[in-house]
Amino acid sequence: MMTPAITWLEPLRPSVPELGETAWDRLCGLSTDVTELVRDAPTRPHPSRSKWLMQVRRTLAEQGHHPPPGADASVWQILAQFCVGFHDLDLRDATGPGHGAMILNEAGERTASVWRGRLQQGDLVGIAATERHGGSRIREITTSAVRQDGRWRLRGEKCWVSRLAEASGFVVFFRAPEGSITAAVVDASEPGLERELIEPLGLDGWSWGMLRLHDVPVDPANDLLGPAGSGLDVFRRHFGRFRPLVTATALGTAAGVHTFVTDSLAAACRSGTLRRVRDNALIMLGRTYAEINAALLAAISANRLASAGHPSADLVSRTGKAMGVDIAYQATADLAPLLGARGFQRISPIAKARGDLTALLYADGIHDTLYRAGGIELIERSFHPGFHVNPSVR
Ligand SMILES: Cc1cc2nc3c(=O)[nH]c(=O)nc-3n(C[C@H](O)[C@H](O)[C@H](O)COP(=O)(O)OP(=O)(O)OC[C@H]3O[C@@H](n4cnc5c(N)ncnc54)[C@H](O)[C@@H]3O)c2cc1C
Repeated sequence: MMTPAITWLEPLRPSVPELGETAWDRLCGLSTDVTELVRDAPTRPHPSRSKWLMQVRRTLAEQGHHPPPGADASVWQILAQFCVGFHDLDLRDATGPGHGAMILNEAGERTASVWRGRLQQGDLVGIAATERHGGSRIREITTSAVRQDGRWRLRGEKCWVSRLAEASGFVVFFRAPEGSITAAVVDASEPGLERELIEPLGLDGWSWGMLRLHDVPVDPANDLLGPAGSGLDVFRRHFGRFRPLVTATALGTAAGVHTFVTDSLAAACRSGTLRRVRDNALIMLGRTYAEINAALLAAISANRLASAGHPSADLVSRTGKAMGVDIAYQATADLAPLLGARGFQRISPIAKARGDLTALLYADGIHDTLYRAGGIELIERSFHPGFHVNPSVR
């Protein structure tokens, strides 16, 4: 029997010819296993929730939930994100390398191989990019490396870092000793890392807060992702692939809310509590269904462009994240009142989805900045190729 998440995806199957029979079956298997695992989810708010989320990640890793060899891994992962997000946006790290993809794609072979093993066993990697002056201005970061005894030592402070206590490693963005923006992986057990937890409004499954770096060692021969000075390119390439995954997860969450509301209304009709479903509710269900599907297809397309290194990949990925998460957020806000006040209880999955989707309006790129960067690129393209809008306004 199809899970409700697969019921959403099944009509899109002709749009993902990259996924053969085996890959599709694996997706269905993942959806079935996740549906089973979420039955034991601790109610929230609950201090053991992040332990449970880690356990889900490790269990799914042990069960071999990854794309089959030969299948298009990135398309499979997009649909996998939709399937887990359908249950809970906090499951966004349930499978796949997540931010660890930066290490796999950009580190030297030795470091990549160590982390490939760790990620396959369910370890988690966080990203430490944002600073107090604003995450939308990564070019202005101040965390920096100084040379000491042949190594580099990182000093600085990062904010709003997710997976703060659970991550086994962090990809940190900083200034190399000569000043250029660089990325490196830092083991989470380094004693020079200080964490300050902050309670978020949504996405509270993983811990979140400040990460201070007190002379944290980095070996420039092994720990850098790409050469020194390539940090902005590493960031751009990663988020070109990562943002469609985030978008698909958010749309999965909106689809989960949609199914919950539809089933609740149908059950109320069956039981006689409702004599009929009013037109306003029917229109809302139809409109949001179409919007979620359209945005998911756009995320799949963005993912393909990023995988192919297409020149429009950044534009489509940035604007697509903002548009897709906006759609998921608005659909959830519009559908929630159809349930009445019971959807407003703190324990309601609808209330949780609304809080979680609010967090995604900031995380992985705040939307006005993403749309604006898209606008800048479109204006630049419209001028002759030599023209550039003043880079300081980016
Ligand atoms: C739940 C959650 C999880 C997160 N996880 C992580 C993580 O794991 N790692 C990480 O590094 N970061 C993380 N972040 C941070 C996230 O990436 C940032 O919130 C985001 O990049 C926006 O940065 P900011 O919040 O500092 O806002 P800002 O960059 O300060 O932007 C706020 C507003 O100011 C505007 N603005 C900026 N410059 C100007 C200007 N010159 N004039 C006028 N307006 C301007 C922006 O457009 C925006 O509207 C997370 C955030 C959240 C909410």
